[in-house]
Parts: sequence; structure tokens; C-alpha cells
Amino acid sequence: MSDLANLEARFGAGNYAPLPVTVVRGEGIYLWDDRGRRYMDMMGAYSAVSFGHCHPRLVAALTAQAQRLDTISRAYFSDRLGPFLAKACALTGMDAALPMNSGAEAVETALKAARKWAYKVKGVPADRAEIIVADGNFHGRTIAITGFSTVPQYRDGFGPFPPGFRSVPFGNIAALAAAITPHTAAFLIEPIQGEGGINVPPEGYLAEAARICRTNDVLLLCDEIQTGLGRTGKLLACQHDGVEPDGLMLGKALGGGLLPVSLFLARHEVMRVFAPGDHGSTFGGNPIAAAVGLAALDTLIDEHLVERAASTGAYLLRRLSALDNPVIREVRGRGLFAGIELHRSMASSGEVVGRLLQAGVLTKDTHRNTIRLAPPLTIDESQIDWAIDRLAEVLGDVVSPVMETATAGEAIAPNA
Ligand SMILES: *Cc1c(COP(=O)(O)O)cnc(C)c1O
Repeated sequence: MSDLANLEARFGAGNYAPLPVTVVRGEGIYLWDDRGRRYMDMMGAYSAVSFGHCHPRLVAALTAQAQRLDTISRAYFSDRLGPFLAKACALTGMDAALPMNSGAEAVETALKAARKWAYKVKGVPADRAEIIVADGNFHGRTIAITGFSTVPQYRDGFGPFPPGFRSVPFGNIAALAAAITPHTAAFLIEPIQGEGGINVPPEGYLAEAARICRTNDVLLLCDEIQTGLGRTGKLLACQHDGVEPDGLMLGKALGGGLLPVSLFLARHEVMRVFAPGDHGSTFGGNPIAAAVGLAALDTLIDEHLVERAASTGAYLLRRLSALDNPVIREVRGRGLFAGIELHRSMASSGEVVGRLLQAGVLTKDTHRNTIRLAPPLTIDESQIDWAIDRLAEVLGDVVSPVMETATAGEAIAPNA
């Protein structure tokens, strides 16, 4: 490990296990390490860097705003917040937006809104509201949110957790319908599960879930923190199913890779439950965050990144599906959001990610032995070709020794 990596490991809390690379510079889809080596960023900071690193227009918005007005808190109006919220509502078709910073805070905001809506509007008896979530969900790391995670590690040692949540199998409509009671406030769902393994639900699942929610007076809350803002080839992933949620969470790419900026957006009927003092955030919607968020939304539209992601994303998935290697169990995804699940008995996704790093491609594995790809939406087809060629080589290296032992009775060490 380099000195810098040692320093981070020594004085950090150890809650991450970074790959052995120290990144010092970024531009577009590329990152450079402390030895000057260039890598293609196929992970895009878990989808927070949709515009590419250090996008000039976003950096200009950030620096111009930082030189004019910084944080004033929400105790006063600013000339930046209104235009940002108006733009976000216009693009998503929502009535109102509440700005926070991290994605987890936007989800917490959605949970609070749903509960209060249940008591004030739906008429659920005090403290009885229930929120339904899906197995394999990832909505952030707060105590409430990890409390309804189905990943044992996320919960282990952090209890007790707040009650009022129940989890149903992802993609299973009958299970959702059966879980709804008169006390159900909301169904919280990722249209495609990101951290859970790039899990795409069966065709029509979200539309049917929306119909069941409407019939039962249950709010549909879509967490599009990872899938939103063009990632899947539509502005929102729920638009693939023609679904208009009652509440929507955005984050990650909304900050342009420069700042944490998140939003909870909703219909009037839901957002109206908040009165002054009910909820807030010191930095949420500060002038710099609002300026960057607005510039990010404008850039998304002006550079046609949603349409680009639709076509380059289809190309990416075609190339992945054409990879002919027995180590691949399944390719999943939509747009520029893809997961390559490997047969557990044949290769570990973590090992492949390590070899990809050696080959100059940065990515990260996630649950279900899956390699995740979420490159900046600015990537082009020749760059995709280069990354997928490296992936094909690495997968060939991990699998060929086993195959050749079986056929030729002779093992060849990878990279020997
Ligand atoms: C990343 C993520 C979050 C949490 O966002 P943070 O900014 O890390 O708090 C919530 N929901 C989804 C779907 C995510 O991918």
C-alpha cells in the first residue's frame, strides 16, 4: 500500500475496504492515481458522477456561487433555492420538493412524510402506521433505514430499531398485496435495486404495484437516488413502467459529483403535511447546493444525457450479453446501469474487480457476486468497447486455468 493509503487506513474508521489505488485527479470518465496511471471510471462513484468528473459547467457553477454567497440556512430565502426546486418539480412532474444533503436524509424525509400523511390524511390511528419495503433493499445507513434492511451485516450490532416496517420479496406482487393493511402508509421501492445486485423486477411489476397502492390508499414512494436522472435511459426509472409515484427521492448525481445534494419530491397532498419546524436540515438546499443542483439538471437536459444513456446503455448491455464466458451467470440492467453476476463456484466478483483495476478499469462489486457498472452518462461507444474488452480478458484469465485443466490436463497460471 502507498503511504497515503496507509494514512487513510491508519486514521480512518475502517468502515470501508478500498481497492489498492490512490486517486488524485479526475476528468470526464477518467481518474488518475498518485503514480500518474490513468483508469476508466466504470463505477461513477456509485452513480454519483453521471456528468463525468469535474464537469467544467458544474465546477463553474460551484465556484461562482462559492464566491458570491455560501450557506445562509433556511432561516432566510435565497435567490438560488426557488429556481432549483422549480426546475426539479418541472422535470419530474412533482408539485413540491424538500432539499436535504445525503440520500439517506431524503429517504428519512420520505418516511416522515408518509407517516404523517397516514395520520393526518388517511386516518391511521396514532403510532400504528406501517411502511412496506422490499427484501434486498438499500436506502441508506441511518438506524431507521438499516432497521428494515434484509442484509444481516447492515443491522448486526446496531439495534434496537424503530418498528413500523415490513419487508416483502422484491418483484412479487402477491406478497405486496397480502402485506397491505388498513394501517399501511406507503410502499417504498427502488425501481431497480442497486446495491442489492442490480436487480431488475419482472415486467409490469412497478405498474401493478402502483395500481395496488392507489386502490388501497397507500403512497408509492420511489427511491431513485441511484436509478434517477437518466441512469437507466429515462429521466426516472419508474417512467419505463409509466408510473407516477406519490413521492420521489433523488440524490447522488443531483450533486454533479461535487456536493451531496438530495431531494424528496411529492404531490401537494403529501408535502402539505409539513409545517414550519416539523423537519429540516442546516445545509439542505444551501445556495451552493442549489446552484450546483440546478446546473446539474440543466446539464442533463442540454447535453441530452438521458437520450444518450438510452442508446449507449443499450449498446453496453448488448456487448455484455454477447460475452461468451461460462463464468457469467447472468447480465442484468437497464441503460448505463448493469450488473454481471458470476457463478460463485467459478470466480469471485471481488477478485475480478481487483484484476480490472490492474487492467485500468475501475469498478466495484456488490451483492450476489455481481460486478456493477454505472459509468458517467457521458461515456461513448468506443470507450465502452475498451472497458468491455478489458472485462472479457480478465474473465478469460480467471476462468481459463480451470477450463484448460479440465480439457488439456494442464493448468496455466493467470498472468504468469
Ligand atoms: C446510495 C443510495 C442511498 C443512500 O444515499 P447516501 O447519499 O449514501 O446516503 C439511498 N437509496 C439508494 C437507492 C441508493 O443507491
